Amino acid sequence: MTRRPVILGGDPAFPEGLPLARPAIQDVPSIARALESVLASGMLTNGPVVRRLEEAAAAYLGVRDVVAVSSCTAGLMLVLQAVNAQGRVVVPSFTFSATAHAIRWAGGQPDWADIDSETLTLDPASAAAGAAGADAIMAVHLYGTPCAVESLQSQADAARIPLVYDAAHALGSRRRQRAIGGFGTAEVFSLSPTKVVVAGEGGLVATNDDGLAETVRIGRDYGNPGDYDCPFPGLNARMSELHATIGLASFRGLDARVSRRTELVERFRSTVRGLPGCTFPAVDPGDVSTFKDMTVLIDGGAFGLGAAALGVALRREGIDSRRYYHPPVHRQRAYTREPPRRPLPVTEDAAARVLCLPLWSHMRDEQLDRLAEAVMILHAHAEPVARALRDASGDGASPWP
Ligand SMILES: *Cc1c(COP(=O)(O)O)cnc(C)c1O
Repeated sequence: MTRRPVILGGDPAFPEGLPLARPAIQDVPSIARALESVLASGMLTNGPVVRRLEEAAAAYLGVRDVVAVSSCTAGLMLVLQAVNAQGRVVVPSFTFSATAHAIRWAGGQPDWADIDSETLTLDPASAAAGAAGADAIMAVHLYGTPCAVESLQSQADAARIPLVYDAAHALGSRRRQRAIGGFGTAEVFSLSPTKVVVAGEGGLVATNDDGLAETVRIGRDYGNPGDYDCPFPGLNARMSELHATIGLASFRGLDARVSRRTELVERFRSTVRGLPGCTFPAVDPGDVSTFKDMTVLIDGGAFGLGAAALGVALRREGIDSRRYYHPPVHRQRAYTREPPRRPLPVTEDAAARVLCLPLWSHMRDEQLDRLAEAVMILHAHAEPVARALRDASGDGASPWP
């Protein structure tokens, strides 16, 4: 390992840059032809392509109903509205802000729960502590890692409240053999550009409850059941035919992409194995994760650089990264008036250590290896790198350990 980090005068690992994610859009000419025929049909929304996408998704997931919507956020809002979650909703704070925003927009208040220290998904014991008197539990299959669905269901059943999943990351994930999508009251996927199946923008609500599906179907169309006599205020949350066309194309080859992502993550983990202060969130053996993100947990003391500092040093190498999810949602300004009712030690610890590295389904082994090498080189030079970062920030009050 003779290369030196850029910040110590070396050449960048990726002069051409390594983005965090790249959407899986294969065969652009055939998508373009399909878009042409949608445009020629004159039917840009409420048409047959959305129905085909819904049917394909329902068959893939093994659920009764799939309702396509304009985004996962809108889908979550409509589901929470449909189950009357206007009071407390138990939810992890270690998630994307939209999970909590949907609760607020549907008229409820987040009740922050902690996460499991191995999987970083909602801790069933912490969820149970808030469940009595709550209106719903909302769990998140974070990074595509399936939640402890059996225990969470027991807690929801005991409290007699709905269990809704933010499955934004998890289209293609499996709990044991079963596809994520069929658990709880409803599961909502995202098809936005950084996810594993993309439509440009879009979401899918999956449920085995026909009544709930019908309410969401009406809700995505302003709340209009067809006679313009709205029983409740809905949204315009329809998916357009154009987005559905891209979504259908992106669905193709999903399982192969998920396998490839798993292979890349395993390759990274075995390459950096033994690196001090670098660990990974666990996926239960027997489960399948989409690995929407390739997440590492950096212990600054042992690694020599904290997660934030490593991110800055990687940036100099041309490598993009994100701290999903730092700050956790309860520390964001929108929620300062809703402080946690219980301490969230695992959330705070994960947020302090988390860093998500570039990963996409058609990434090459060679790119992955160079990424892993850049992380190892930064560890090998951690002390002078930390000093250089401190000097560069200039004020002695820098956040870098
Ligand atoms: C992306 C994301 C969302 C929002 O999905 P959109 O389709 O962009 O609305 C919600 N929750 C999580 C965890 C996400 O990562």
